[in-house]
Amino acid sequence: MLVPFRQFVVKLHSRCDLACDHCYIYEHRDTQWRGRPRATPEEVLARTAERIAEHAEAHHLGAVHVVLHGGEPLLAGPKTIEFAARQLESRLPDSCALDLRIHTNGVLLDRQFCDLFLAHDIKVGISLDGDRAANDLHRRYGDGRSSYDKVIEAVALLRQPEYRRLYAGLLCTIDVRNDPLAVYRALMELDPPRLDFLLPHATWEYPPLRPDGPGSTPYARWLGAIYERWDAEGRPVPVRTFDSVLRTLRGQSSLTENLGLDPADLVVIETDGTLEQADSLRTAFDGAAGTGFNVFDDDFDRAARHPGMIDRQLGLAGLSATCQACPVVSSCGGGLFAHRYRADTGFDNPSVFCGDLKEFITMVADREEVGPALADRQLGELAAGYGGAEAVRVLAGQQLELDRLLLARAAESELSAGASALGQLLEAFDAAEAEAFDQVLAHPYTRTWAARPEPEGGGLAEFAAAVALRAGADPAVRVPVRDGAVRLPGIGRLLVEPGTTAVAIRGAEDGFTAVTDAGAVVRIRWTGQDPRWQPVREVAAGPDWTVRLEDTDPYRDAHGHPVAERLGDAELACWDRGLTEAWDLVKRLLPGYAAGIATGLSVITPLRRPAEGRGLSSSARSAFGAVGIARPDASDTLALLLVHEFQHVKLGAVLDRDDLFDPADERLFHAPWREDLRPLEGLFQGTYAHVAVTEYWRALGRSLRQDGRPADHAEAEFARWRDHTARAVATLAGSGSLTPLGTRFVEGMAATVEPWLDPVVSNTVSPGTPFVR
Ligand code: SF4
Repeated sequence: MLVPFRQFVVKLHSRCDLACDHCYIYEHRDTQWRGRPRATPEEVLARTAERIAEHAEAHHLGAVHVVLHGGEPLLAGPKTIEFAARQLESRLPDSCALDLRIHTNGVLLDRQFCDLFLAHDIKVGISLDGDRAANDLHRRYGDGRSSYDKVIEAVALLRQPEYRRLYAGLLCTIDVRNDPLAVYRALMELDPPRLDFLLPHATWEYPPLRPDGPGSTPYARWLGAIYERWDAEGRPVPVRTFDSVLRTLRGQSSLTENLGLDPADLVVIETDGTLEQADSLRTAFDGAAGTGFNVFDDDFDRAARHPGMIDRQLGLAGLSATCQACPVVSSCGGGLFAHRYRADTGFDNPSVFCGDLKEFITMVADREEVGPALADRQLGELAAGYGGAEAVRVLAGQQLELDRLLLARAAESELSAGASALGQLLEAFDAAEAEAFDQVLAHPYTRTWAARPEPEGGGLAEFAAAVALRAGADPAVRVPVRDGAVRLPGIGRLLVEPGTTAVAIRGAEDGFTAVTDAGAVVRIRWTGQDPRWQPVREVAAGPDWTVRLEDTDPYRDAHGHPVAERLGDAELACWDRGLTEAWDLVKRLLPGYAAGIATGLSVITPLRRPAEGRGLSSSARSAFGAVGIARPDASDTLALLLVHEFQHVKLGAVLDRDDLFDPADERLFHAPWREDLRPLEGLFQGTYAHVAVTEYWRALGRSLRQDGRPADHAEAEFARWRDHTARAVATLAGSGSLTPLGTRFVEGMAATVEPWLDPVVSNTVSPGTPFVR
């Protein structure tokens, strides 16, 4: 869906009366201004106002923000400014409020301008870089004279009682050679209603000034010094950069396009009526901001569909792999789009201020102790389909508490059947061996067992033995034999002689001993090769993710699909290779999902393979942290199955925590990818999983194209799943059954998927991917 523009930067004049050497319009890469009229003709202003009004009406906008800009807009003179204001006022629909501002260097500001601004309620923002020394470093006239006194006069005028309400604030461009506290003090002495500190425009091609050399973070330190003072003073005035970090840390929207993941909604109208992207892009390369559209021939919807505009509306999905995996991405958002530019990779990079942004945001987060409130931000990530390590860790912690309750309930019934000694042992373990206890509790099939304990009771002994082995604790635990084996949850399975009914398990440094009731002793070493011992084996898919292949636990059948028998060496090697390749692919294509998977997916249960090696997968609400997969032949399919199923795992954990829809709603809904109708939970789960599936195909198609390889299949799959998912999101949104949190999830998914609806991609239907759900 189109993201409408809400911010319009209207250029009134394309020249400036100052010659600041850090100006990104005249002093950086762009030269487009040279060919444009100096002053904006009235017909451009009239047409612009008409287009803004048309856009506001079409998108039912309650307000638009218009900034009169330049060059130096006051050079346009009062008559032009008044004309622009009148055009906007007269054309906008009554239902749409006009927030009209002017951004000026202030040197020409006088009473005539101020009276005009009063008449049309035009707020005034002034550029000022601090005290005289700081300001004089850059903001001078062409002949070298300082502009400082004139700017101070302008601010003094705005501070007069009759004009005070026009005073919008001060914008300071950072130069790290200036003393940050002196700058802050000088600005605060001017009693601004609002402050903003802007990073100087820079790219990887033209990096910012770093007096201590590459890799240093002077901007973080500079901003940090002011933040600490501002905080200590009780935050006496809003500071847009600081408030944006604070807001985004709490899951709220940013107040600036320089930070956060909110879609860009700003367009620039040049003096000749051409429509451009954000001015800051001029710092990247000549013509970088261009769209090729103009107010006379094109409406704003057309400009909003420009690929450059869409790229800035993609949120997390539009960021580089590094940013997607970054712990502060929700606040940083990859920084300002222009600051990511590098000649060879375009904008697919972190910000050139990455180190500074990460350090500053982390500093604020630490000071704020945003821990408890992180839940809101994490929910925001999860709602959009993602969820990094932190979010998944929180879900895992909540699941553990749920498991603890279920274990207690299961234990109660077993203990009432006379297993009090075991109960005491478990209590002792819970207190003294908490880590080992929680490791066994977190085994995905503990809950499956606890939710359906043996008809004749039992299961606690296996649990206790597993805790004892993990903890290296001393007492032997007597464990019953079931189906010819002793189950040690999450650790493995010991096969015993026929007729054995129970064994006493006692841990040893290098393994354990099992003593049968008949007195036979079995000695198992962790590193040994005893055919009676079947350990759960681990696969290190990469340095950052190790997963257990569970083929011993009888409760692994939770996935509702026949499980594979114990894997032979050849099959194990295939899993090892397949997972290593698949994980590499997940990290490359879907870094926004990878950190969550590495944190939360601890077990894969191999399912029985269907014919043709196509693969198949399933998950279960009762088995957090596990997915069932029938290994496909192709590792790219395995990557897709992993990502798809882990979406179900995450959403299942959310649903264990909160209702997303009315649980009493028993209606069935159409899911575009299935022939049968689905209950709301099934539709929600499928939609959530297909957000990731869609992103997988999108990323794969892009990657193939970049490598010069055929991408038709991936692009067709992308188009298919994108359309399915968007329709499912709409069905959920219209269900009338969503809770407030469910609405947030549906809106989050919509915000991820809708920008994908614009790219022109072939919609050829191709064979589906075989998911069980
Ligand atoms: S801190 Fe760096 S890696 Fe993280 S989101 Fe910002 S630019 Fe990207």
